[in-house]
Formats: sequence, structure tokens, C-alpha cells
Amino acid sequence: MADVAQVEREIPLNLYRHGAPLIVRVLANRRLTPLDCANEVHHVTVQFPDGAFPFLEGQSAGMAPPGLNARGRAHVPRLYSIACDRDGEAGLANTLSLCVKRVVFKTESGNEAHGLASNMLCDAQPGDELPMTGPAGREFVLPDEPTANYLLIATGTGVAPFRGFAERRAKWPQEGRGKMWLFFGVQTHGDALYGDEWQAFAQDPDFRVTYAFSREEQTADGRRMYVQDRMREAGEELLAFVRGGNTHVYICGIKGMEVGIEEAFGALAQAAGVSWPELRQELRLAGRWHLEVY
Ligand code: NAP
Repeated sequence: MADVAQVEREIPLNLYRHGAPLIVRVLANRRLTPLDCANEVHHVTVQFPDGAFPFLEGQSAGMAPPGLNARGRAHVPRLYSIACDRDGEAGLANTLSLCVKRVVFKTESGNEAHGLASNMLCDAQPGDELPMTGPAGREFVLPDEPTANYLLIATGTGVAPFRGFAERRAKWPQEGRGKMWLFFGVQTHGDALYGDEWQAFAQDPDFRVTYAFSREEQTADGRRMYVQDRMREAGEELLAFVRGGNTHVYICGIKGMEVGIEEAFGALAQAAGVSWPELRQELRLAGRWHLEVY
């Protein structure tokens, strides 16, 4: 097994901070969701000077909106997961991509308001310069363990880091390579971010994707279909996957999803006469339980 301390020492961390960001240039900006989809999500690729921003899969980059906040200070950067592997977008060195949903919401007074960072990124044009911080995060990185199995559970744009995970895994030698199983919850088929890419990865029978379309599918008792419901359906097979002793679990997305996921694991474990709290504690102590929700 990899020496965790050794791996951690090699994680590039916070090379650029609020007040001293790296200036990056927008290379491309493409809308991922179709025009008739209620959610507008973009895949934004930026380029930076040679070797200036090393990162690992699962880390994040910060983007600060222009201007000042209500207290007259520069806005703090908003974190976005890096959505490609360490080699850059499509293998292009010195680039990375972010997966950004345009945030539009109603204020208490009923006016429409726009998220500053998300709208800046969704509107970014090739050639624009943006201030970037990071790389951030050391708990959610993909370890260099090709023979491990990976259970990935995502909602919405929380799938961003898993694109990097899948790209990295595809470069590991096939001989002895572990399995990757992605549970992905979105509202509609149009929201299935990177759907073609998951399908291509799934040409490998050891890569699997299980969707939950919350606004198009229902549970037997008439609720919206969520990832945790699909996990319950996966039953013993999923529990065996997690109990194998060689599996990392990563959960990324909307805050609160972890509650339903805990309940699903609890039910699966109980049906098999296993203690879920003990199993989760084992995963935690082994550094195999990774959660990033916000
Ligand atoms: P979203 O479209 O609002 O939701 C995605 C799916 O999750 C929908 O099907 C939604 O169902 C479902 N859902 C809602 N509550 C749930 C729950 N308690 N348990 C399980 N599923 C639930 O997602 P989004 O707007 O893309 O937001 C994703 C979240 O990931 C945000 O909180 C974001 O901050 C976070 N995140 C983003 C990044 C990034 O790089 N952009 C990285 C890490 C995390 P319904 O809407 O039909 O109820």
C-alpha cells in the first residue's frame, strides 16, 4: 500500500493565494447542458505558464470575482473542483478545466441575483485573463493506487473531480487495475454532465456508471430518485464492493447528500448483518472515506 505520509508530502498545495493569484488565460468555454435544460453548466478550460500550477486529481482551484464586496474588500475566491487529470485538459500541458453551473437565484426581496464567480466563468471568453488560486485540498485527491477499487458518488457538478479520476485511471496499466463505479445523480438526462465520456469509459467492463434522474424517475414510494436510492437497489453487490478492504469511497456534491448515503449504507449493512458504523470507521481510519460537499 502507498505510504500515505509520503504521498501527502508530494501534494502541491496553495501555491497561489488570495491577494497573490496566478493569472490564467481562458482557452475554451463550452456549455455542457443543452439549451432547453433549466440548468446551465459550462466546461471552462484555462491555460497558465509552463509548470506554474501542478495539481492532482481531486484538488480544487479558486476563482475570485472582480470588484469589491459590500465591505469594500476584494471578493474571496470560490473553489471549483478541477475536472481533468494532472496532465491537463485532453492531455494539453499547462491547462485545466472547471465545471461551473451558472447560479441565478431570487433575493429575499424577490429580485433576480447572479452568483458572481459562476457568472464570470460561464461568460468567460477565450483570451480573457482570470486570477486563480490553489491548488487546494489534500483529503480528496486520488491516490496512486491502480489496484484499488473506487466507489464515486456524485450529485450535479460534484461529478467534476471524478472526470479527472476516470481519466487518470484509464492511463493505469489494465493488468491488475481495480474497478471504478460511479453513482451519478442529476435532475434530467440533459443534466448528465460528460455523459458521452462516462459511456466511453464504460467500454471497460470494470468501469460502471449508475444514474439517478431525480426529475424523471421515481422511487417505488413515489419520491424523487436520488443516488442513495440507486445505492439501495445495488444491494449486496455494492456492500461487497465497499467491504472488499481495497476500496476508496468518494462522495462529492450537494450538502446533505451524505445523510441519505449513510442511511443507504446502514440499510445495506443491516440486511447483511454487518455494523455500518464499524465498517465506515475502518474506511475512515484507513484513509478510504472521502467527503466533499458544499
Ligand atoms: P443540483 O442540480 O442541484 O442537484 C443534483 C442532483 O442532486 C439533483 O438530481 C438533485 O435532485 C439531487 N439532490 C438534491 N438533494 C439531494 C440529497 N439530499 N441527496 C441526494 N441527491 C440530492 O446540483 P448542482 O447545482 O450541480 O450542485 C452540486 C453541488 O456540488 C453544489 O452544492 C456545489 O457547490 C457542489 N460542488 C461543486 C463542485 C464544482 O466543481 N462545481 C465541486 C464539488 C462540489 P432535485 O433537485 O431533483 O431534488
